[in-house]
Amino acid sequence: MKARVSTDWLSGCSGCHVAMVDLHEKLLGLVEEVDFVRVPVLMDEKDYPKADVGVVEGAVRSDHDRVALEKMRASVDKLIAFGSCAVYGGPSGLGWLHERDDVMAAVYDGGPTNAGGERPDADAPILEDSVVPIDEVVEVDAYLPGCPPHPYFIAAGLRAVLGVSDLQLTAMSVCADCDRKMLKNEGAELHRGEVTAEKDSLCFLSQGVVCLGSVSLNRCQAPCPHSGVACFGCAGPSVDLITEPHLDLRNLIGRRLNMLTGVSEEEVTRYFQEDAKTLYAYAVASPVIHGKPTVEIREWAGPKPAAQGGE
Ligand code: SF4
Ligand code: SF4
Ligand code: SF4
Repeated sequence: MKARVSTDWLSGCSGCHVAMVDLHEKLLGLVEEVDFVRVPVLMDEKDYPKADVGVVEGAVRSDHDRVALEKMRASVDKLIAFGSCAVYGGPSGLGWLHERDDVMAAVYDGGPTNAGGERPDADAPILEDSVVPIDEVVEVDAYLPGCPPHPYFIAAGLRAVLGVSDLQLTAMSVCADCDRKMLKNEGAELHRGEVTAEKDSLCFLSQGVVCLGSVSLNRCQAPCPHSGVACFGCAGPSVDLITEPHLDLRNLIGRRLNMLTGVSEEEVTRYFQEDAKTLYAYAVASPVIHGKPTVEIREWAGPKPAAQGGE
């Protein structure tokens, strides 16, 4: 008998559902093994039919999200948190940096697309005070982070949850799949992202560019550093950061930059706070992160957003 799979989309951008479609021929193989009974981007199914596996994209930000998630949980045997928003809050979780009223004011009080400052009517979902990953609301059986998750890991994760194959996912960081070499490069100064041709094989950190590959879980096979872009941690923190409360990306990256370039750890901290505004951009809404020193960043990375438009 085919397994029944149901999906839903909470406060997310739909990119995770699009990534599922990106499975191409792997999706075809999967469809032969499963019946998709509810997929918001593919079919008009408002109810929550009984299913073996539920796949949820997005964080919980509104009363609608909370009710939908509880209905989904009640309708499925196994639930997968799909994508960094569902697992950690993801980009949707950046709302955690701001007060609810400030978010509403920034979005609705004036600006070119809402010059009259109208607020949503009574039928619209009500924004909750904060934003949380889905396991703060319901029990979750499996986690597939990524923004969006990489097709290889989607297929592997779904097959494992469906019992088609054993799950063998790496617990390594992005660096494990990156070809760049971490070499000493004394004197390199901290700077933003450009990469020169002759340095294509040199690790970003050796060049004085902040790359979060060493503190990010490898659920992607390192496409960004391979394309000349430093990793910004979209699959969330590495296993050591999740399991060791005393570890923080600021001191781990600071230590590595210090070792490779000689830049002091104090300078790295200053750079993170004042110039780069480096934080757990994809996981800051997760309680896993809330004991870390970088969360101080809420004080200075999350100033009240100014209303759009205006003087
Ligand atoms: S994890 Fe990324 S792709 Fe998925 S819903 Fe969130 S923002 Fe969109
Ligand atoms: S820190 Fe970045 S550039 Fe350096 S090895 Fe790791 S992923 Fe590659
Ligand atoms: S390299 Fe980093 S930013 Fe790029 S996809 Fe992987 S985790 Fe995300």
